Amino acid sequence: MSRTVAIIGGGPAGLAAARLIKVNDPRALVTIYERADASGETFGFGVGLTESTMSNMAKADPITADRLREASHAGHSLVLRTGGREVGLHGARNLAIGRAALLEVLTKSALEAGVEIRLGCKAGVADVQADVVVAADGARSAVRERLAHRLGVSITYGSLHYMWCGTDFAVSNANFTWRTRDDAMFVVHAYPYADDRSTFLIETDDESFRAAGLDRFAAEAPAGESDERSLALLEDVFSEELGGRRLLANRTRWAQFPTVSLRNWSAGNVVLIGDAAHTAHYTIGSGTKLALEDAIALAEALAEHDDTDAAFAAYETARRPYVDRFKHLAARSQNWWSSFRERAAQAPERIALSYMTRAGNLGIEHYAAEYPETARAALAPLGEAPVGEPDTVGDWVLGRAPDVATADLAGALRAEWDGGEVWGPAHDAFVARLSGEDADVIVVGGPSDPKHVGARIDVAERVRWAGKTVVVEVPSALRTEAAAAVGAGRADAVVLVG
Ligand SMILES: Cc1cc2nc3c(=O)[nH]c(=O)nc-3n(C[C@H](O)[C@H](O)[C@H](O)COP(=O)(O)OP(=O)(O)OC[C@H]3O[C@@H](n4cnc5c(N)ncnc54)[C@H](O)[C@@H]3O)c2cc1C
Repeated sequence: MSRTVAIIGGGPAGLAAARLIKVNDPRALVTIYERADASGETFGFGVGLTESTMSNMAKADPITADRLREASHAGHSLVLRTGGREVGLHGARNLAIGRAALLEVLTKSALEAGVEIRLGCKAGVADVQADVVVAADGARSAVRERLAHRLGVSITYGSLHYMWCGTDFAVSNANFTWRTRDDAMFVVHAYPYADDRSTFLIETDDESFRAAGLDRFAAEAPAGESDERSLALLEDVFSEELGGRRLLANRTRWAQFPTVSLRNWSAGNVVLIGDAAHTAHYTIGSGTKLALEDAIALAEALAEHDDTDAAFAAYETARRPYVDRFKHLAARSQNWWSSFRERAAQAPERIALSYMTRAGNLGIEHYAAEYPETARAALAPLGEAPVGEPDTVGDWVLGRAPDVATADLAGALRAEWDGGEVWGPAHDAFVARLSGEDADVIVVGGPSDPKHVGARIDVAERVRWAGKTVVVEVPSALRTEAAAAVGAGRADAVVLVG
């Protein structure tokens, strides 16, 4: 059966979906409505593409995958820089590509397949008539807003403020570093995405933001303008990293990341994909990946099911667990960055280990295998780690840790946290209550699924900052995460349960 398909939004999700739907069903009439006047006119600078994204693209659309690889900048190692030192975080794993180049490749592929692209065309659901309407209109989706009551929309804004800037030179290696100015701390995530371009993404916590008086521009200037005053300040703060050069702006202003979640990803003949359906914090660099993979899954589901409802259900069933997992990793990463100021005084190796294990998806053994000397230094508070045999490091950490707490466990205070993972007001209140308790040792337990375990490890770390000794109950199945929590100093010890 051939359909008419209207796609609102010509970003990565919309362009990739259009091509694949058309390739699967050449008789379908597929039209993209994109509000930008020209192809490649977009916000932001470069984005990272992981090898897993590339291999998924290669399976679904080898021609476009090859073009993307060709338009990308070669992989780069990630390092942490501080006090004139450089600590390795991971080797060259990701490609990077300018958003404009990404959109050019996807546009070319969509046009070749026979998709019609209407540029300069801002559309809403009421403006388009088609069997299937795909909302690919991004994180601030107007389609989603219009159908909010049927989709069950939840949007929360992160406390961090970020500015997506660029540079007109390629930084050496992907890196992150930080600088303080008076009472404010600024962190930069930088990586090259072309021979003469880098993403230079700067973030600051809410306290710093206000201390530096940066809150005024948002209230005074209309959307679409770049915040020149903040850019001048940041050029000064990061003058060493920039070598005295200017920051590039592209609709660059302070923003707080919106985390979008929906109860339903479709309503009637409208289905949402990419950022319109879900967002995952940029510090795990996966939004474009999820957008492209949504497009692949939706095109497959539409090809397999003539019935549109069945196709939408198949698409959501295929994608939701995977997306939820990334949202969980992203939330933990976002929390880590939101509280970075608390960790900045630690030894760089400790920060590195903490960073690499922040989301709970990478084991301490993995890091020890890649950077044994850094891992040894990071784990020095626990003793001389056997980094020569990286596979044993996790067990070694767990074997060391109980000594810290067993003697005190009998008199410890036990608390349960089952309120989800986000550092919202309830989490803050729970941390404040435990921090104020008389007991010196606190055991934190709760449900056994990874989301809750991650949340109570976060509780433990925050309560430790108040000077308590904190022991976390972790299911034996999550032994790797338990070892990382202790090794990176998030918990004093763990009790393996179940
Ligand atoms: C600071 C930052 C850094 C990031 N870094 C990375 C990274 O390194 N790696 C990564 O994978 N992801 C990264 N992302 C996420 C990534 O940019 C998004 O997840 C991705 O662009 C989502 O694609 P999309 O097509 O769903 O939405 P978008 O890219 O937002 O595209 C939406 C399109 O819809 C158009 N549109 C909107 N409304 C209408 C309308 N009414 N009518 C017509 N057109 C409309 C817009 O003009 C736009 O072209 C980052 C995001 C941010 C904020």
